[in-house]
Amino acid sequence: MSQPVLTVPTDRDLDQMGEQLRVAIQRLFRRSLHVRHVDAGSCNACESEIKQLTSPYYDLHRLGIFFTTSPRHADLLLVTGPVTRAMEAPLRRTYEAMPDPRLVVGVGACACDGGIFGPSCLTRGGLARVLPVDVFIPGCPPTPFALIHGLLLAIGRAEQKLHRGHMLPTADSEGTGTTRPQALRGIAGGEQ
Ligand code: SF4
Repeated sequence: MSQPVLTVPTDRDLDQMGEQLRVAIQRLFRRSLHVRHVDAGSCNACESEIKQLTSPYYDLHRLGIFFTTSPRHADLLLVTGPVTRAMEAPLRRTYEAMPDPRLVVGVGACACDGGIFGPSCLTRGGLARVLPVDVFIPGCPPTPFALIHGLLLAIGRAEQKLHRGHMLPTADSEGTGTTRPQALRGIAGGEQ
């Protein structure tokens, strides 16, 4: 039986994936995707990898991805850790505060199924026990390349939701007259 071959991604792989991400964000999210990151009990190694994304090497800002401190401005919720009991309610409140369409991405083995912490009296044992998750990014911790790949998958999920009509209109909180879901429906309907 052949073994899977592990390959180290090259700069070229990174450039290709970055370009795919940039084009998808431009098309679906009006050029920028805003990410709210919540640490739900991680050991901070996942955070260390996430931090690399804004370093000059990965430079996610050039692709239109920005981290935000406000869930009201976020399109995507990035969660690390197994979700401790103490973080469950704040995590739910963060999710509820986000406008539609909202994407949820679990980062690391802990967010996938509790990882080394598992379910216990102190932890829920994974993000899916608390919120609907669009994409899990495995790894302990996942590499920045895996994180970028996960973001690309999440944007693919946004497109699927759009075509299934799961994206609901929300109030225009910025007074611009056009909500993001409206913009997305415009794209689906062929508007420019
Ligand atoms: S997945 Fe690994 S690196 Fe990430 S929070 Fe859990 S133990 Fe830490």
